[in-house]
Amino acid sequence: MTIKELKTLGIEIDNLGTSTGSKWFAKGDIISSFSPTNGKLIAKVQSTTRKEYDKVISEAEKAKLIWRDIPAPKRGEIVRQLGEKLRELKPVLGKLVSYEMGKSYQEGLGEVQEMIDICDFAVGLSRQLYGNTIHSERPGHRMYDQYHPLGIVGIITAFNFPVAVWSWNAALALVCGDVVVWKPSEKTPLCAVACQKIIADILKANKLPEGISSVITGDAEVGKWISEDQRIPLVSATGSTRMGKLVATTVAQRLGKTLLELGGNNAIIVTPSADLKMTIIGAVFGAVGTAGQRCTSTRRLIVHDSIYDKVKKALTDAYKQVKIGDPLDTKHHMGPLIDTDAVQMYLNALDKIKEQGGKILVEGKVLSGKGYESGCYVTPVIAEVENHYQIVQDETFAPILYLIKYSGEVDNAITLQNGVKQGLSSAIMTSSLRESELFLSQNGSDCGIANVNIGTSGAEIGGAFGGEKETGGGRESGSDAWKVYMRRQTNTINYTTSLPLAQGIKFDL
Ligand code: NAD
Repeated sequence: MTIKELKTLGIEIDNLGTSTGSKWFAKGDIISSFSPTNGKLIAKVQSTTRKEYDKVISEAEKAKLIWRDIPAPKRGEIVRQLGEKLRELKPVLGKLVSYEMGKSYQEGLGEVQEMIDICDFAVGLSRQLYGNTIHSERPGHRMYDQYHPLGIVGIITAFNFPVAVWSWNAALALVCGDVVVWKPSEKTPLCAVACQKIIADILKANKLPEGISSVITGDAEVGKWISEDQRIPLVSATGSTRMGKLVATTVAQRLGKTLLELGGNNAIIVTPSADLKMTIIGAVFGAVGTAGQRCTSTRRLIVHDSIYDKVKKALTDAYKQVKIGDPLDTKHHMGPLIDTDAVQMYLNALDKIKEQGGKILVEGKVLSGKGYESGCYVTPVIAEVENHYQIVQDETFAPILYLIKYSGEVDNAITLQNGVKQGLSSAIMTSSLRESELFLSQNGSDCGIANVNIGTSGAEIGGAFGGEKETGGGRESGSDAWKVYMRRQTNTINYTTSLPLAQGIKFDL
């Protein structure tokens, strides 16, 4: 990626990492952002100090009073302008996502497209923040419920979707009348600087207060300031289950609200009637796409014993075709892991698979030599395992696919699929209506996402996104996920001259 392209996004070699709208400042530690694609320094970002954090929050507090008074459809108009700008910048922002995070350029473009899609969705939503009217039990009374803005929404994001997750939260929160303060992953701060510059320009052009959208940068410590802050009624946190437990506990101490989007351990069940061509394509994309660093990556393939050997052969053959290299070169299917720490975790997982009794079918290794200088490129792995192994129970954020055999009825596969702590995404490949309906029923998948005849990854923004159990229970993006960004109020209006009490209670004076 060239310096000129970075400048299009407002990124210099040295950047300030705190912003309230168009005002940028920062005196904290320097974060150097290296590209996992080639190991080169992209640019530096100076992180946020505690004093600067408090300034950001007090600006946000002022801005929220103005923003919540602007009619929702007019707030939607600002989000519409954000979507328009993103359309214009899609090629270059997609390139930055790919360069800073390491996912393929196609996936980088797809991530920006998700931002555009959620903006479109939010614009429509800005005229549909509906409450219910309710029939009162008392004569001459009317009841309804309505939704009001919460105030400040803190958004903590992970490295693997460095722009889309912010937009899922920000587009909805903004039309709901909230202001947003974003703490991106310290591994991808430049993507955040670029997004904030885009929205800050729009807010400025519309003469709106600076504190409607803010960015703060830094590590877990900066995230903790958000979790502990009584002034932030909702904390939306995306990342590991370990992080989610810490955030949930801290926010619960002050009885704040959380929206948690945490780790997954996603499986595809492959039944005897599965279309094997579709299964293999879905499984390979799900397991090696984004180098296995999607929360919805396919980690487990639970295959019926009658077709197990066939699936195993087809998969191992398909893995031979996977081209690994610079993700900006469209001939490659898989790019690097985010950094060398992630490579070490991948290597540790391979040791554990062997120690715990697994059999590696497609060997993993760290690639070296020309094109692999960053030390972050690894090969995707397939291992035969049993579901109960500790390593299978844990989410390893790397391209490792576990093959697990089931026999008998599909219930046995569903038990294995549900037999992990996480509950994000799941899928079944089948031509049987009975199997598919069982999988989708209350006795089926226990995940937030359950798909039939598609893989586990690649959700659309129209549906609510999130998962159960240790995935955190949060929902963001489509459907009625917007409700979490607002406070519900029930109103009862008496238009008579008497004061009847509910439940028929008599109180005569
Ligand atoms: P991570 O937990 O290391 O970091 C995520 C974010 O949390 C970062 O911004 C980090 O600085 C911050 N953070 C860490 N500790 C914190 C604390 N104690 N208090 C406040 N903030 C804290 O995760 P990661 O490595 O960046 O991302 C990978 C993980 O994210 C995987 O587990 C993946 O499944 C998950 N993820 C989930 C979803 C989802 O929607 N369910 C989406 C993307 C990623």
